[in-house]
Formats: sequence, C-alpha cells, structure tokens
Amino acid sequence: MRVSHPRTLAEAEALIATGAQAVVGGTGHQFRLSQGQTRPDHLVNIGPILPNGINGLTIGAGTSLEDIRHAGLPLLSQACRDVGAPNIRRLATLGGNIGFGAGCLIPALLALDAELNTTRGPRPLRDHLRDPKGLILSMTLRPLERSIWRKIGLRAAFTPAMIVSAGTLASQDGRITDLRLSVGGGIVAPQRLTEVETWLIGQVLTKVDMTDLETRVFAAIDAPSCAFRSAGYRKRVAAKVISHGLLGPDLKTHCPKTLRPSPTPPPALTALSRQGGGDRWHTRPDMPAKVRGALPYLTDVRAPGMLVGRILRAAHPHAEILRIDTRQAEALPGVHAVVTHRDITGLNGFGIVFQDQPALCADKVRYTGDPVAAVAAIDAQVAEAALALIEVEYAPLPDVTDPEMALMPGAARVHDSGNLVSEIAHAKGDLTEGWAKAVHVVEDTYVTPRQMHGFMETEGGWAAPDGPQHNGILVCAGGQHGARDRLQLSRILDLPEDKIRVISSPTGGAFGGKDELTVQPVLALLARKSGRAVRLHLSRAESVQAGIKRNPMRIRMKTGCDATGRLVAQEVDVVADCGAYASLSPGVLETAMEHAAGPYVIENIQTRGRLAYTNNGTCGAFRGFGANQMSYAIECQMDRLAAKAMLDPVAIRRLNMRVPGSPGFLSQRVAPSERLLEMLNAASSSPLWSARETNPDEIIGTGMALNYQGNGLGTLPEDEAEFALRLKGGKIEVLCGLDEMGQGLIASLHAETSTRLGVARDDSRAVFGDTGTAPDSGSTTASRGGYVVWRGIKETAPAFETELLSQAGAKLGLPPAELRLVPGGIGARRANTPTPLLRFDSMADSATFTTQFSFPKSDYTKGNARFMFAFAATLARVAVNRISGQVRVLDLEMHTAAGPVIDMASYLGQMEGGLIQGLGFTLTEDMLMQDGRPVTVNFDSYMMPTVRDVPNTMRITALEDLDPGDPYGPRGAGELGIGAVTPAIANAVFDAIGRWPVVAPFAPESLLDVIAFSEAEAQT
Ligand SMILES: Cc1cc2nc3c(=O)[nH]c(=O)nc-3n(C[C@H](O)[C@H](O)[C@H](O)COP(=O)(O)OP(=O)(O)OC[C@H]3O[C@@H](n4cnc5c(N)ncnc54)[C@H](O)[C@@H]3O)c2cc1C
Repeated sequence: MRVSHPRTLAEAEALIATGAQAVVGGTGHQFRLSQGQTRPDHLVNIGPILPNGINGLTIGAGTSLEDIRHAGLPLLSQACRDVGAPNIRRLATLGGNIGFGAGCLIPALLALDAELNTTRGPRPLRDHLRDPKGLILSMTLRPLERSIWRKIGLRAAFTPAMIVSAGTLASQDGRITDLRLSVGGGIVAPQRLTEVETWLIGQVLTKVDMTDLETRVFAAIDAPSCAFRSAGYRKRVAAKVISHGLLGPDLKTHCPKTLRPSPTPPPALTALSRQGGGDRWHTRPDMPAKVRGALPYLTDVRAPGMLVGRILRAAHPHAEILRIDTRQAEALPGVHAVVTHRDITGLNGFGIVFQDQPALCADKVRYTGDPVAAVAAIDAQVAEAALALIEVEYAPLPDVTDPEMALMPGAARVHDSGNLVSEIAHAKGDLTEGWAKAVHVVEDTYVTPRQMHGFMETEGGWAAPDGPQHNGILVCAGGQHGARDRLQLSRILDLPEDKIRVISSPTGGAFGGKDELTVQPVLALLARKSGRAVRLHLSRAESVQAGIKRNPMRIRMKTGCDATGRLVAQEVDVVADCGAYASLSPGVLETAMEHAAGPYVIENIQTRGRLAYTNNGTCGAFRGFGANQMSYAIECQMDRLAAKAMLDPVAIRRLNMRVPGSPGFLSQRVAPSERLLEMLNAASSSPLWSARETNPDEIIGTGMALNYQGNGLGTLPEDEAEFALRLKGGKIEVLCGLDEMGQGLIASLHAETSTRLGVARDDSRAVFGDTGTAPDSGSTTASRGGYVVWRGIKETAPAFETELLSQAGAKLGLPPAELRLVPGGIGARRANTPTPLLRFDSMADSATFTTQFSFPKSDYTKGNARFMFAFAATLARVAVNRISGQVRVLDLEMHTAAGPVIDMASYLGQMEGGLIQGLGFTLTEDMLMQDGRPVTVNFDSYMMPTVRDVPNTMRITALEDLDPGDPYGPRGAGELGIGAVTPAIANAVFDAIGRWPVVAPFAPESLLDVIAFSEAEAQT
C-alpha cells in the first residue's frame, strides 16, 4: 500500500481523482478492513492539511472525536462519547466519520443542520450525503435549545450502531416551534424524519400523544435487518428514544415480581477480596509479568531460521475432496514443506473420546475450519502465497446445520456412522404417578448459545525436530494435558511416545478450548517434513472459524410440584449440537444430563439427551461442561414453580434440595459435605433482595440460583495423577503435569507447599506443563486441579520432609526430631522464631518423592457419574432497559462452598472470571452461523463482556469447612463460578418485568415485547 503526503488540498484532490483514497485517522479504513473489504492500493494523508480545532460552533474536519467530546458542544459532544473506544476516538476525526459513510455522528449532525465547508464550497450536510463531492474542511452547527441523543449498539459504544437517534427542539410557551429529528448509524442510512417533524411542530409538548408519536416515527424510518437485530427492533427503539427524549420518561411503576425470602442467619463465610484477605492475600507469582505483558508465551518464541506455518482451511462446510494438488506451492521459492493427509503415516484421526477428527482432511471436509493442507515457509507472506497456490477440488454436499434435523431420517450424513453421536437416557421412579401428584406444572424449552472461549492467546505455538538424531519431535503449544496430547500425536505421527516431548505451558487462556489438540498435529507434521523449527499462530479470525466452541443446547424441561411446592415429576429432553467432530462433546452431554435435576431430589424423573453431528464448526469442552446449560433450565423452572405455588425462591429450594446423605442423581454414592442449605441461608440474608434505587429508563430486579458442579472425569474414564516433590538447587521443586493457563496453578502449588510444610511460598519452584520434566498429573480440566495439587503435596510431603530433616540433622549434628521446616530452610523445632539454622540453598539436592493416585470416584459404573461436588448460590441484581430491552447487571453476589481455599487470589479470580464469562453467555455472546459458515467472523460482532459490563459490585464468599472426617479436601473451583449466573440473571429479569427469558443470550427485542405486554396488562 502506498501513502502519499500532499502539501496542498489541490494536490490531494488530484491524487484522489486518480483513484487514491483520503485518510486522516485511518480508523474508518481499519474498520472496513476488519469487515473483509479489500485493502486500498493508494492512500492520501490529508490530516496535516485539514483545518483542525473548534471555533464556536464551527469545527475543523480534522478535529479528533475525543477533542470534540470534551468541548461541551450541544449534542455533538455527547454523541462523540459513544463512538469506539478512547484509543479510536483520539485518532478518529469528524470529517472521517462522515466519509466513513456509516458514522454514528451523522444523525447528530443532521439534527444540528450542519453546513459543510468543502473544497467545492459550502454545502448542507444533507446534500453532501446524497452526492458527496470534494473534501470536507469544516462544518458549522445550528443547535436548538433542547436535544435528544441515543445510540443503540450491540453494546454501548465500540461498534457502529444498530441505530442512532438524534433530535433538537425549540419551544415557546410550551409549544414546539422548531424541530429536527434524524436516525442513522451502521447499516441504517442517515435520514431526517421530516413528516414527523411537520406533525409535531405547533403541538403543546405536554400534550403530544406518545403512542401516536411512536407509531409515526416507526412508520417513517427506513431500516434494514441484519443477523443481529431486526428492522422492527431498530425502528422500535428509535421511536422510543424520540418519544422518551422529547416528552420525558413515561414513568410506570414496576413492583418486584418475586416474593422476597425472610433472612436466615448466614454461615461463617470467608469474604474473598484483596482488602479483606489480610495475610491470606498473596499476589500470584506469575501475575506481575503477565500484567506488564512481559511473560513470554509459547506463541512468542522466535529463533533464527524458524519457519512460519499456515493452514489451508476448507472452502465449504460440507464437501467431498476430489483432488488436492500442492505442486505449485511446493515449487514456490521460500517454501520448505507442504503437508497434506498423504504425509500422515499414522492414524489420520484424533479426538479425546472418539478419533473422528482428521489431522488433515483426506476425502471430506465437515466444517469451514477443517485443515486440508499446511505450509511452512521462510515468512508469513510466502506461506500465505503458497496456500493460494494449492488447488483443491471439491464436490459440495448438503449442509447439515440444525441438530434436530440432523437426527431426522434421511438427513445428509456428516459421518458415515450417522449423525447421532451419543444418546443418554435415565429414568427413576414412576412418572405417571408423579404427574398425577403434580398440582403445578411448568414446561419450556431453554436454548443456549454457541459461546467462544475468547482466550487472549489464540491457538498456536512451535515445533522442532528433537532428540539425538533429530528423529523425535518437540511440540510447544498451549494446552491442557501435555501427556494426552503426546499420546494423540504419537498415533498420528506413528512415533513412540518417548520420542515426543510436549510443552503446553504457559497457556494464555483455555477454558476447555485447548483440551483437545488444536494446531499440534500440523505443527509436528511441518517440522518433521521440513526438518526445521516451525511456528504457527492462528489469527483471531482463524481461531473463530476453526476453534472449538461451547455446544449449543435445546433443553425441553417439564417439571411438576405438589400444592406445597415439593417436586414430584420431571421430564428432560436435550438436543445438543456437536458440530463436525466429537471431541469432548459426549462428555459435555453426559455432564449436562447428570445435572438434569440440579441440586434437588426429584423422585420421578425421565431424561434423554442426544448429541448430533452438524457442519456448524466444532464444539467441545468449555468451563461448566454442560452443567451450566442445565442449571439455566432447572433454576428457572424452580422460580417458575415457586411463583405458581406462592413460595419465595429460597423456600422452594429449601424444600427440595439435596441433604447430607442424599445419593447422587444416578443413585451413586457421593462425597460428604453437602453445603446447599448454607448457600441458601447466605443467599436469603443478602441485602440485594431489598429493592433499591430505580431510574426512569430501567426496571430493576433481583434473582438467585443454586448450582452444584461435579468434579473430575467421572467413573468411566481413567482419572489418574502423578505428582512429585524434591529439593533441587536450593528450591523445593513441586513437579506437577497440570498446565498454567491463567487459573493460578503456580500460586496454588506454592501456597499448598507452604501450608503443608511450613515453608515460605517463594521457597518453592513449580515445574509443570512439560512432559519432559513433569509427571503426568492428568488433564487440567473438570475442576480437578485443586484436588490434585492438595492430594499430591499431602502424599509426598511426609517422606520429603523426613529426608530433608535427616540431611539437615546430619549436617547440623542435631537429631532430626529436634528440627522442622521453616521459611527459607530448616529450623529448631522448639525455637520461638522460625529462623533457619540451615538454608535450603546450603543443602544437597534430595531424592524425588513421587506419588500416584486416582481422583476419587463413585461406585457407579452403568454410566459416568461424579463423586465430588462443589456448591454455590448466585444472586444478580439487574436493570432492564425500557427503551432498548438490554439488560445491565448491577450487582453480583456469589456464595461458594468448595472446601478449603488453597490460594485466595486464584480462587477469587476463578469465581469472578466464571461470573463474567457467564454474564457474556447470558447477555451478549453467541457465535451466529448461517449455512454452516460463521456470521460472527471476529470479535467486533461477538460481544464479550469488557470492563464496562462488569457489575458495580461483585461480592464473593467461601464456606471453607468440610464435614468432620471428610477426607477429600478442596473441591474444584474452576467451573463453579459460571454455573448459576445465567438463571440468577433470568430470575432477576423475571423479577423486573414478569417473564423468564428462555433463549440465551437474552434478546433485547423479546424483552421489549415482554415489557410492552406487561405494561399493557398493568393498564387493563
Ligand atoms: C474498533 C473501531 C470501532 C469503531 N467504532 C465506531 C463507532 O462506534 N461509531 C462510528 O461512527 N464509527 C466507528 N468506527 C469507525 C471510525 O473510527 C469513525 O467513523 C471515524 O470517525 C473515522 O475517522 P478517521 O479520521 O479515522 O477516518 P479515516 O479512516 O481516515 O477515513 C474514513 C473515510 O472517510 C474519508 N474521509 C476522511 N476525512 C475526510 C474528509 N475530510 N473529507 C472527505 N472524506 C474524508 C476517507 O477517505 C475514508 O473513506 C470504528 C472504527 C474502529 C476501528
């Protein structure tokens, strides 16, 4: 791309006449590129020659939006606040916003009747929009005394609007004398609402018929639909903004819809926070470098001679491959290796449950992220050019995009085995008898989204030939179980496992999305074929296309209770979208079905879950692993039954919840220490139940939900762990094969060693995430890490301590019984102060003390069942916007019971992170697909919560005790946080507006319908 820097406007215009494009801040261009538009060949930088600055109501076109935002200009300053983020606004200019064409400011400028000064002379903005001519130099505004402005976006600022509404108004003696109304922004063409203006002028402001006004505005607007919001929604919210803005809020009182529980004394809870943590609060050892951006990840590794890998993905969601020709790519100078399925000497299939996913597709592609070929070249440009030279001939097949249709007879088959990946059914009691007892019945279908893990580090890493004759391979890529990745790679490469070393930490976030192999097979194949180190890092767009997602589910649930609110019957039918390959989806369905009754006892129950292959990307493990989808359904059902039985949400749960000694859902034996009652008591005493401030735009409500989360892989899969401790180089090395992926593994290893041995946290060094140096501790998934750390140290510490004391005793000439471990070394057992007599760094390396154990399992083997569970209650206070239908979470509170907290900061981080990830799942996140292709191709239309969406308050507590004699220690904390946030928010939405949203993310459009309906109902 060429950039010219003209010295005069005439010079600039001459260049533009040749096809070059003007650029100032460049942010509009940046946005267009992110939408896939072609990169312009020639840019003309007009910024330095444009007028810049504000003189009264005249503004230079080169003025930045951030400057205008702070200038106090009527309407326009307010509008600038809602464009992009500060870094965008500092570059973005007013002229560029008009030139961009979809700018959010245009409706404001129309309402302000902006007069442009251009290189072709003065022109009203309206004329320029109709027929753009020349460069904009400045503009002059003509405000009236009062103004209206509102941008409704996917989220407030950040993206171009769904619709922007703006207006200015003058009145005399309460009568409208002048008025300009406009809409536009994003895909809505800018337009003045002249008919409505004419109708309004002359009317008495306080006497305008609000309903009539909304109807007229709605009719006057010309707006299209898109995949995210309908035309109807756009017009409706604009009509509301204009009527609300002109005539003031139409205040309607909304009473809470939920009965408030009577407070019960809460149990002794540990408040988790930096402020309240006292000496239990420690900064995580990996945090300072991560916060500074200084910690190198595996995708950051660069070395001389390292090649760059790129993957050719499928051109169709579902097609046969007829031919792959790589000859031209191989011949391109700079290309060192091109690999296809023909280079796979082992099994061309991987998958933790079934090996149904090809490392490189041979005969068929099943989703657009499927890899067909890959290239290693001297740099990214050559690698990309080589990809373009690979010829693949396809015969497209019918796309399978609806999981229910996929299970119909005659549906096209994604795999030869058919589209039913797995089916799980369970029945208990007598359903007919149960329904006969039911006095209140609620039935609905809850729909959950295709959520993206959204980790900061996308899938990637590097690989290189390894070992004495370079006949082995070193694969370094973020993951969640290096030893299992090594096993899967050994099958693909047909190479013994001892010739493969996998380094999988540090990982820049995973949440389940890196449990399965990602880029490792391609990296290994390229490194082996080229004989060189190769790196590969997916762009965000490629990660969106190819990476694993959360399984969308449709959960039909029918639940009945008797007149007192006791649950008597339930039927559950689930259809889950697997996407193209199984990965861990069968396990996700299993976990969902195991949580089908929630933490309640239901005597008569029947459940069925089916998992269907489709061509919708690929799905698998994601924090919560099916349990959170199910708790959305069951916890809404509980509140709905409570409403019918005239009970409060706490009372109905207290009546039905599991109690100590209750068997598991599959009648299996479970670990003691049930803590549901304590969680309920904590929830009932929450101050969030008392309604607080309200505001004219929003309706406030509070909801709560319980959850419990099974830990570990369950009875059927192997769930083993190895662990070791040793003294080496003056440090206590804690050897653990788990991965550090942001959850606080290192902090937990240091903390537990310190607690168990009485040493300082920094006496330890964690050795993890590398099959070459750490033992196989099993996967870093399924909320099992905390237990593995606790048990591993518990089992290895005694023998390790004995050896250190005996070594120190010999050196100090003291009996070991008179010594103990203290921070920094070995001290005297009876000394008042723990001062080391012998420092660890003066001691010889010890032997390595290892242990091997199984994660605790239940006795149930007819299906997969969990033995250990963690418990929680989540409360949410929300504000539902009456104009946009959007939900804002004001406060979140979560009470958790997962046994002793190993490291407070890590535990709190897991709970807060889980809550916010759950908030996205509930309100904004859904990767939309159309005909097997992602509509959401990047993060600009996939709304992950940011700091702006985080609630005003988040209070998290822990109940740390266990039953006397409970030998199982800490329960998993990784997934608990996400478990009940969706139903807590759904129940809060009900409390505010009187209906439960059953489709997540909650669609603002349907919430507006509900508000309109309940307001109409209230009037009759
Ligand atoms: C992450 C992100 C978020 C964004 N969010 C928003 C948003 O919320 N709302 C919104 O409205 N926009 C948004 N944008 C788009 C863009 O930032 C703004 O519209 C901005 O005002 C463009 O100004 P600029 O100076 O950067 O324009 P540039 O990118 O330099 O130019 C944009 C277009 O305008 C033309 N142009 C520039 N100056 C003139 C001039 N003086 N006369 C004639 N034509 C001219 C250029 O030729 C080009 O076609 C976003 C962009 C990004 C990257």
